[in-house]
Amino acid sequence: MTDTPTQLFIGGAWVDAADGATMPVDDPATGEILCHVADAGPKDAKLAEDAAVQAQEEWARTAPRVRSEILRRAYEIIIERTDELAHLMTSEMGKPLAEARGEVAYAAEFFRWFSEEAVRIDGGLATLPDGRNRMLLSRRPVGPCLLITPWNFPLAMGTRKIGPAVAAGCTMVLKPAPQTPLSSLALAAILKEAGLPDGVLNVVTTSRAGEVCEPLLRGGRIRKLSFTGSTAVGQLLLAQSAEAVVRTSMELGGNAPFVVFEDADLDKAVNGAMVAKMRNMGEACTAANRFFVHRSVAEEFGRRLAERMGALVVGPGTRDGVDVGPLIDRRGRAKVEELVADAVERGAQVLVGGRTPEGPGSFYPPTVLADVDPGSRLMDTEIFGPVAAILTFDDEDEVIRRANDTPWGLVGYVFTEGLDRALRVSERLEVGMVGLNTGLVSNPAAPFGGVKQSGLGREGGRVGIDEFLEYQYLAVPVS
Ligand code: NAD
Repeated sequence: MTDTPTQLFIGGAWVDAADGATMPVDDPATGEILCHVADAGPKDAKLAEDAAVQAQEEWARTAPRVRSEILRRAYEIIIERTDELAHLMTSEMGKPLAEARGEVAYAAEFFRWFSEEAVRIDGGLATLPDGRNRMLLSRRPVGPCLLITPWNFPLAMGTRKIGPAVAAGCTMVLKPAPQTPLSSLALAAILKEAGLPDGVLNVVTTSRAGEVCEPLLRGGRIRKLSFTGSTAVGQLLLAQSAEAVVRTSMELGGNAPFVVFEDADLDKAVNGAMVAKMRNMGEACTAANRFFVHRSVAEEFGRRLAERMGALVVGPGTRDGVDVGPLIDRRGRAKVEELVADAVERGAQVLVGGRTPEGPGSFYPPTVLADVDPGSRLMDTEIFGPVAAILTFDDEDEVIRRANDTPWGLVGYVFTEGLDRALRVSERLEVGMVGLNTGLVSNPAAPFGGVKQSGLGREGGRVGIDEFLEYQYLAVPVS
């Protein structure tokens, strides 16, 4: 997009970094530089925080209906500009245009959903058990927030946080991933156009995440951190948030089990696997990472999955007919290559793919590995690439134990035609979400999030707004 902003967005104005620094944004399909954007330092972060703090009181007093309608207008603008936003996203992130269009719709839906939630923030009035006192409960915005987003869903991870924050009456500083700043800057421009008052949303793009975020978290003025990213960075930010007792929501990494029982409908299982593995080229926290397939159907499942994976067209996301774009960068690709090499060394069979192509960009082919050794590194590492690793199992207790044998617990997928088994296994999986005979769980109306080291809190659904609200209780004597 020729008119995409490339400066910082602070107090409603587009500004350069105080020291004039810029950083490049690369096209992962070519490795070439697309453009440069402002590279914020701690001074800029402080200005953004000042703007958010200053805007907070008035924004909290703004009528819910006004906040709601800003989100609704922004939703409509995003939908109108689907093509433009999808091209922008594909250029900085790599995903094929069809997937980028899907993400634009998914991202916009968070604004529509939270425009509807903004006007349903409730309170309460009750007589306390002693009969002498009343309890008056109101809900108030938590205050200025720091929102930190990853590169894999550049638009939707932003709207999933900005939507509930705006609905609740919070102001915010958004720090997008350095690989994909353009989608967030375009989003800020859309919110301004939709009527969001100056200072409510501030965007700082930076290559110096630690220097920019740590002072805000320790400073005592930011009251809430909402983070989506890796578990390692989440743990660091939790420690930094402890000092000023900042409320946190954490959407962290995953290591999703994908379990196919002997009574599964293999058509459903293979279709589900294609979505759970290949959405976003496998660069998703919800990506199926470990395929546990019952020994009696493992060979057929592997053969059919390899056939489907091998038929996918790999290429630049902007090209017609492409199913699989490049990975985010060469570093991401090198990690996938190492994980595959390790599995193969330990005896895995390559059913399809597994060979890095020559040429520019960071492409990696859809790959299926069978007979994967449970000690392989990809069993306890997010692959974040188009690689399906298949292991076999013999009975239900065993597979549940193995599926739960990980510090993560974001999502699991279960394929069986037995209702009892479906419910029994789902209940025993230590995860925040389960896909039953489906490979897709994400939906703005559902509470998204994980247990164990996959995170704290939920985004989306009826509870999504709670993360940005505090209770205030007034004790009122009965006179
Ligand atoms: P990452 O943790 O490297 O980065 C995420 C964000 O944190 C980026 O904006 C980055 O600049 C910032 N960051 C890095 N170091 C920081 C620091 N010291 N202080 C403040 N901010 C810092 O993750 P990534 O590679 O961008 O994204 C991939 C990860 O995100 C995967 O682990 C994936 O599972 C996870 N993810 C989780 C969800 C979810 O909802 N659970 C959704 C998408 C992605």
